[in-house]
Amino acid sequence: MGDIRDPQLAEPAREAAELGLCEHCLGRCFARVDFGYGNDERGRILVEEHDLETTTPEECHVCEGLMGRVDRMRDVVEADLAGWAFDTFLVGTRVPPDVLEREEMVWEAIGAEDTESAKSELNREIGKQVEARHSGIGRENWTVEFDGPDVNAVLDTRFDHVDHVHKSLFIYGRYRKHVRGIPQTRWPCRNCRGTGCTECGASGLNYILSVEDLVAAPAKQATGASEATFHGAGREDVDARCLGSGRPFVLELPDPRRRFVNLDVLRRAITTCAAPAVSVSELAFVDKDAVSEVKGHRGRKTYAAEVAFEDPVPTETLFKVSDMLEGTQVAQRTPSRVAHRRADKTRHRDVTRCLLVHRRDDGLQARFLLQGDAGLYIKELVSGDEGRSDPSLAGLLDVGARCTALDVVDVGGPSALDATIRAEE
Ligand SMILES: [Zn+2]
Ligand SMILES: [Zn+2]
Repeated sequence: MGDIRDPQLAEPAREAAELGLCEHCLGRCFARVDFGYGNDERGRILVEEHDLETTTPEECHVCEGLMGRVDRMRDVVEADLAGWAFDTFLVGTRVPPDVLEREEMVWEAIGAEDTESAKSELNREIGKQVEARHSGIGRENWTVEFDGPDVNAVLDTRFDHVDHVHKSLFIYGRYRKHVRGIPQTRWPCRNCRGTGCTECGASGLNYILSVEDLVAAPAKQATGASEATFHGAGREDVDARCLGSGRPFVLELPDPRRRFVNLDVLRRAITTCAAPAVSVSELAFVDKDAVSEVKGHRGRKTYAAEVAFEDPVPTETLFKVSDMLEGTQVAQRTPSRVAHRRADKTRHRDVTRCLLVHRRDDGLQARFLLQGDAGLYIKELVSGDEGRSDPSLAGLLDVGARCTALDVVDVGGPSALDATIRAEE
């Protein structure tokens, strides 16, 4: 590592000083020689040791005053960050390219190798000073973090302007949808593609409410994020409810103004705003990986299906057929109702449970509890979808059958994510 007082540095230091450098810029030529000094201190030591002369930063050949404005730049960054709530930050700077070119030329001229650029020094110095002024005062405890900070503040040193990028917030939860007729995510009007027309009553939406909007609006308000993206662990049909322990989701909130949100307060705000349609539970902060975990969720799902028959079916027949369906693998071609927007292919899904729970006296209606692999189409399992789903309830009974109401009653039990979150608590 060497010694900053090493006599061997006399010659290159003299050459550098003669080019007209300030103490900072002189010290930076030898930034990686010796520990424990700031670059301006290195510069001062070299001046004393070798009887050199330096300029003021304003007159410096390399930085042209930049290094004399560190305090001012620190104040600008600090003032800018004060409008936001966060724990960790990192300062970056945009330094005029001619400063970086001139320092390179100086280093080359004197053969200096243990150097540090002005940009790197400013990033470090401003960060360190802002951190020092914000430690130990409660919520305003700001810590420099290199790996994924909450806020990246980038100062343009020419205009004292700060751009900041805030790490997205990810909130996990489970939602229950207590009513039918609400899609999981925003569904723009097909006619106008969201711009608003007479068909959608100028709302731009096919459905005025969605689980996404009902959950996102209070979350955006609480965090000050201007947008939100809803990632669900699969989705139920618009006309199906989602009950039981609910369906896992992750809400992604980019550029949040406030990162400290009381999730219990948020849960109540969502549930109040969204009542009686939607409620949420188990809210927890998660990291980005949770999005792919939730989207890749392949747990079994359990449904309650209300079925109407074209002709009366005796109870024994219903029991027999539900026994036949349980444990069967079903081949399902893409349902005709979604074939216009999804590729037509055949999938094989297991029906793991089929339980008759109610039969109306006239034999024209019954209720089943059905459990199956993720992606099993229940309405088609009931109706047969004109032979596209095989076997099916209608096919086995040889009687027309259709699902008149569908509820998701369980989504795959506790997911891996639930377990992770519980373990962390
Ligand atoms: Zn300088
Ligand atoms: Zn429209």
